[in-house]
Amino acid sequence: MDTLSTEEKEIILGSIRDIPDFPKPGIVFKDITTLLNNPKALSTLMDHLTERYLGYELDYIAGIDARGFIFGAILADRLGVGFVPVRKQGKLPYTTVAEKYSLEYGFDEVEIHIDAFGENGCNCDGERSKVLLIDDLMATGGTAKAAASLIDKVGAHCVEACFIMELSFLNGKKHFPAPIYSVLEID
Ligand code: AMP
Repeated sequence: MDTLSTEEKEIILGSIRDIPDFPKPGIVFKDITTLLNNPKALSTLMDHLTERYLGYELDYIAGIDARGFIFGAILADRLGVGFVPVRKQGKLPYTTVAEKYSLEYGFDEVEIHIDAFGENGCNCDGERSKVLLIDDLMATGGTAKAAASLIDKVGAHCVEACFIMELSFLNGKKHFPAPIYSVLEID
């Protein structure tokens, strides 16, 4: 099931809960905890992503803090590749590379370990490691762009970014440096 049927999309979409006005008025928060505790929806999603990425010959999956860790780690295990956490500033214990990005008010920062994708970002054949970036949702795209830039900074190659949901009306895709695959596009 490289392509999801309408019914499968509905199983996944129907398992995600909308929470209006969280964390602040005007935001509709897409709650994926109800996807995670729904075995049919979770396996439909993970079977689809496994099928899609089997042929990509990935070296690593990088998941964005924190919900990207869940989908990324399951997918990495299914594909037999390494998992790398892209963390919020100050959480990683070894030498890190950091990237700042702007929020509606102020800045945030993400980090990865300098050697997360192998020495100089290269795999055991001495080629740039092929990395899939994953998160639950793309809104403005700022977090994902910062994460993609970190992958590039340490010498690896972001082959695609994958989101369970994309708020397409925010046009976060614009100027993103790699192809994007969104399981569900929300208008
Ligand atoms: P952005 O950098 O604007 O693309 O925001 C993406 C990050 O914020 C992701 O890690 C999402 O988990 C989180 N996020 C942004 N908007 C929402 C939303 N409406 N519902 C759930 N998570 C969101």
